Amino acid sequence: MTKEIDAFMKKVIARNSGEKEFHQAVREVVESVTPFIEKHPKYKNAKILERMVEPERVIMFRVPWLDDKGEIQINRGFRIQMNSAIGPYKGGLRFHPSVNLGILKFLAFEQVFKNSLTTLAMGGGKGGSDFDPKGKSDQEVMKFCQSFMTELFRHIGPDTDVPAGDIGVGGREIGFLYGQYKRLRNEFTGVLTGKSLNWGGSLIRPEATGYGCVYFVQEMLKTRKMSFAGKVCVVSGSGNVAQYTVEKLNQLGAKVVTLSDSDGYIYDKKGIDDKKLEFVMHLKNVKRGRIKECADEFGCEYVAGQRPWKVACDVAFPSATQNEINEADAKVLVKGGCIAIGEGANMPTTPEGVRVFQKAKILYAPGKAANAGGVSTSGLEMSQNSMRLGWSREEVDKKLHGIMVSIHENCVKYGKEQDKYINYVNGANIAGFVKVADAMLDQGLV
Ligand code: NDP
Repeated sequence: MTKEIDAFMKKVIARNSGEKEFHQAVREVVESVTPFIEKHPKYKNAKILERMVEPERVIMFRVPWLDDKGEIQINRGFRIQMNSAIGPYKGGLRFHPSVNLGILKFLAFEQVFKNSLTTLAMGGGKGGSDFDPKGKSDQEVMKFCQSFMTELFRHIGPDTDVPAGDIGVGGREIGFLYGQYKRLRNEFTGVLTGKSLNWGGSLIRPEATGYGCVYFVQEMLKTRKMSFAGKVCVVSGSGNVAQYTVEKLNQLGAKVVTLSDSDGYIYDKKGIDDKKLEFVMHLKNVKRGRIKECADEFGCEYVAGQRPWKVACDVAFPSATQNEINEADAKVLVKGGCIAIGEGANMPTTPEGVRVFQKAKILYAPGKAANAGGVSTSGLEMSQNSMRLGWSREEVDKKLHGIMVSIHENCVKYGKEQDKYINYVNGANIAGFVKVADAMLDQGLV
């Protein structure tokens, strides 16, 4: 099988040169799916996988805007419309200086499988810009968002492509983007998700990725007759996903001892309780400050320039960015007694790191399964927008929980190995693949 996988990857690398994150994401899927395809020649004959690694459409555009000093700034905007076999393109927008074509193609590719797993009718896409909202005034962020949408609006729509937030795109940015879309189209539709409650947003959408990730790990723990009560958890990041991961873990009786940002991490032995979390939320969402300030406030440790994986824990939740756990980090986590990993972020563990977790037979949930709660609730937001109705908090949370349980069941169905170890990577990739591949077969040469 290695020969087939290597030959496939050789072509992908040649056609998409320099896009290393995209190669990494594709290889992971190809490794899982190739043995399955060999057993089901209909997919092989129709070259489904070869088609799936080619985006349906890539849009790249100039985003000029004026900063507060009156100086012209130019950024690059992107939208990758990866696959629409099972529904309109759906996936977030990322604003971060590291954004490039390869990173967005990896995210769009992952999104196709993730959205398929959710059981909802959503294709996969992703977009964003190399614009850095950090250190910019609200006015500058607004001007950038307006310029970005002035091009993007012609490529999206409530039945075509429905973007959402991701790194650097939260409630503030979604508001500015939506306002500009509405001006240009003269339409009030559910074209973006993650909107504010008073103009079409869904309850639980801000919480959904973090809550969903914790629900998924809860299901994994149940397979070993364990629960979160008393478990020490390490969380990286301190943005949207990390914040609501902590909130749900606290509700379930776990103790979260770390949070981080790109400058370093805090270690609070006593646990980041709800009161401290409130401080973090204000710091990050309103003041837009640095995580270091929490150490001064809580009287806890701050470690500059490092990630939190050296802190011994039962469960780890990487919730910042891609490739934040390498092989050495994974070994340290396993040695420290970690029994489960829930990836809030997309592809936060390198392939070598994943092998360490799987070799140690710990519970390992890849992002495309564990963090699918965000896009699932975006799907629920789209349904509510279409009906022009709003569901209660309890209703949305119940649906979210049900979706995470069903994603877990699907991973078990396709990922259980002979020795009963559940390979969640294979499970998620194969389950995600089958639904999209069957739709592509039904729809002919698309
Ligand atoms: P936010 O922008 O709200 O927060 C991102 C956090 O990660 C910040 O604390 C940020 O620190 C840190 N971070 C970002 N880039 C880096 C980096 N290169 N190195 C170290 N730390 C970094 O984003 P989200 O919480 O929305 O997203 C976090 C992850 O979750 C991403 O991988 C995203 O793709 C994934 N995800 C998000 C979903 C959502 O619904 N929002 C859905 C599914 C997945 P700093 O402020 O210093 O940059």
